[in-house]
Amino acid sequence: MRKWPVSRRLAACIWGVLAVFLTADFCGNLRGKGAVGPTTVMGAPAWLGRTSPAGTVALTFDDGPHAVYTPKLLDGLKERGVHASFFLVGQNIDGNEDILLRMQTEGHLIGNHSQNHMQLTAGTLQTARGQIDAANRKIRQIIGYSPAYIRPPYGSWSEELGAAVSMTVVLWNLDPLDWKLQDEEAIVRYVEKHVENGSIILLHDVYETSVDAALRIVDDLKREGYEFVTVDELLIE
Ligand SMILES: [Zn+2]
Repeated sequence: MRKWPVSRRLAACIWGVLAVFLTADFCGNLRGKGAVGPTTVMGAPAWLGRTSPAGTVALTFDDGPHAVYTPKLLDGLKERGVHASFFLVGQNIDGNEDILLRMQTEGHLIGNHSQNHMQLTAGTLQTARGQIDAANRKIRQIIGYSPAYIRPPYGSWSEELGAAVSMTVVLWNLDPLDWKLQDEEAIVRYVEKHVENGSIILLHDVYETSVDAALRIVDDLKREGYEFVTVDELLIE
């Protein structure tokens, strides 16, 4: 595990057995295929210093950009002065290039979520690298640099990939299953019940319920004294 490039930047790294169960049904109903690879959950490190009274958390959004809901989210985040982290699927970028430029201009973190939302441990190493490289290339063409952070679809990663890919893997430690619930109220309730200092909150900006929930979560948690940061700020020692 310590061989992974990401580990060099982290004081804590927990094998995410729980995340494997949570992600087995995530985005693509993989349950029963038994192919979910080893998963590492990063976040909620005990050593994380508090820079605000309640704690510091990161909102993360996967699977976008979405032509309608992502701009709606960006509007809401801008109004509230909050930066988030977006893990983009390469194939969703075409036609939404302006959204990436907005993310960049407005101070959000842009990360890789593969080209076609492929489970990266399911095929060959070459296929996985192709998926990662294609999304990196697409993002670089628009914002001018390759993302440093990757969230593998389904949280599925391996030591082999870790050795071959020089990117920081970012998973999560607070998953309200927003894609499954698609219920603003339920998502808000779950997150606010479980949030703590160091939470990396997983949401998807391809659902309106998730976007609406995210903005309510920001309002409520800011009132409680939480600070929102991008994952790079949360993970740096
Ligand atoms: Zn995803």
